[in-house]
Amino acid sequence: MSIAENIIRFRESTPPQVTLVAVSKTKPVSDLMQAYDAGQRIFGENKIQEMTSKWEEMPKDIKWHMIGHVQTNKVKYMAPFVSLVHAVDRLKLIKEINKQAEANNRVIDVLVQVKIASEDSKFGMPVPDVIALFENKVLENYPHVNVKGLMGMATFTDDQKQVAAEFELLEGLFIRFRESENLSILSSGMSGDYQLAIDHGSTMIRVGSSIFGARNYN
Ligand SMILES: *Cc1c(COP(=O)(O)O)cnc(C)c1O
Repeated sequence: MSIAENIIRFRESTPPQVTLVAVSKTKPVSDLMQAYDAGQRIFGENKIQEMTSKWEEMPKDIKWHMIGHVQTNKVKYMAPFVSLVHAVDRLKLIKEINKQAEANNRVIDVLVQVKIASEDSKFGMPVPDVIALFENKVLENYPHVNVKGLMGMATFTDDQKQVAAEFELLEGLFIRFRESENLSILSSGMSGDYQLAIDHGSTMIRVGSSIFGARNYN
């Protein structure tokens, strides 16, 4: 199936409350434009430099989501235009986003990435730290950062029970703080596990290879 057909298939087969982020990392602008022409307006990238050059080249009604791990010293390059930062996992990064957002006279929307996977390699804030962040009202000190929700990545495994348990943990945390923290976005689910994520309350899926095909890393 073509990229455009894949976009339409995802749009039609997922519930209306679920937003599709088209994960376009490593893909050329010509591929992204096929998705754009099929109506897709939200794209996810995991490298700030790549996202910035695509932003410069492409139509300005696109919302750019930074879905990857963010190095503090690179926040300034995306601060003028980024629409949502998914992987905020430490206070130092919140401080830097607040500073760069203020310098650009804006408030930047972010998600707190929660460590739900058992693998050591996955980034994310440990669950007790997320609870403390909210309960201690730490975010009140950073008015240029708006936490809109939570993000999580499940362990890369065929064990559906384990993946389901990890998404359940994330959903529980989301429900616990949804009202008091005014959270509206639960970003979970990729090509391999988006259905399970939706079953566990996902409102935003990040899909790459099922739309654009396998990635080439050179
Ligand atoms: C690459 C990536 C995705 C998309 O992965 P696919 O398996 O290709 O759908 C989703 N989320 C994050 C954080 C990623 O880095």
